[in-house]
Amino acid sequence: MTPPVRNGSVPDVIVTARDLRKEYGDVAAVDGVDLDLERGSVTALVGPNGAGKSTLMRLLCGLLDADEGRVLVDGVDAAAEPRKVRSLYGFLPDVYGFREEMTPREVLGYFADAYRIPAHLGDARASELLTFVRLDGVADKPVGRLSRGMRQRLGIARALIHDPPIVFLDEPAAGLDPDNRRELQALFKSISAAGKTLLVSSHILTELEEYCTHAVLLRAGRVGAADRLARLVAGPLAAQTMRLRAVRGLEKAEALLSRRPGVSGLEASGPDLRFRLACTDEEAAALLAELLAAGVQVAAFGAETRSFEDAYRSWSAEEAG
Ligand code: ADP
Repeated sequence: MTPPVRNGSVPDVIVTARDLRKEYGDVAAVDGVDLDLERGSVTALVGPNGAGKSTLMRLLCGLLDADEGRVLVDGVDAAAEPRKVRSLYGFLPDVYGFREEMTPREVLGYFADAYRIPAHLGDARASELLTFVRLDGVADKPVGRLSRGMRQRLGIARALIHDPPIVFLDEPAAGLDPDNRRELQALFKSISAAGKTLLVSSHILTELEEYCTHAVLLRAGRVGAADRLARLVAGPLAAQTMRLRAVRGLEKAEALLSRRPGVSGLEASGPDLRFRLACTDEEAAALLAELLAAGVQVAAFGAETRSFEDAYRSWSAEEAG
């Protein structure tokens, strides 16, 4: 499998949703979602429990019919050609039951057959995937004897059996210990490196941050933010918190900053000054030059780095507002 060629400026979108809605009784589980997934991207889908993540995933892969709106998958309309759309996806649902007496090899054989893959190719594909998800040692043992981590890896192999270009994983890491989660992360990175487009829902933001390129924040069935992960984490310019450490002249810096338009929330933080300022890199460079010219001996200066967790928390706080 070759990774897709990306044209730097125009995003190559593989999944598009417009004004997607799904209600359960008087609950709007998905309430007017517009979404684009770039081909080859790995998107984190995050939000509180009940935000509509599972429902949205199922709508996007044609497992649920929308009440309103449109989904296009690689140019195919999900409402017009649901079977075709479903074949473009591999899906790991949040709850998945395998028949306990079947072996992983039999499970994969069964699904290969369901996708009408000829038996000899299906067998080869199953063996290849069992190795990929590191289940070759238990390939012929009953599923009932597998650990939760192994079952999740079998679920991933099952999602990949027909070599779909898009893979959706609904809370794949829930209930797994750190070693098993790390193993899953490595698998997701390999799946992504093979050029597939991934959408992963999870509450473990520190881990999503390690392998996701994009993120969608969902609350009460609506998209609160969707962007490249790095941009979401950096936050809007207005939200930048700057930190200045000086070995001499901290008072001078404080005086200069307190007079400067746009600076707010100026406070001492241990040996540093922290303040909020909306500025471009050029403006930050000009401010640093000013501080140096005023005789402040600057040891460190820059925007504080935020984590995905920080970004999510400040987004949640704003939403709660
Ligand atoms: P999440 O995956 O973010 O936890 P869900 O998509 O599971 O959210 O659920 C979104 C909302 O829709 C919740 O209020 C949930 O109770 C409701 N919901 C989801 N599926 C069903 C269903 N099959 N029947 C009734 N209500 C549902």
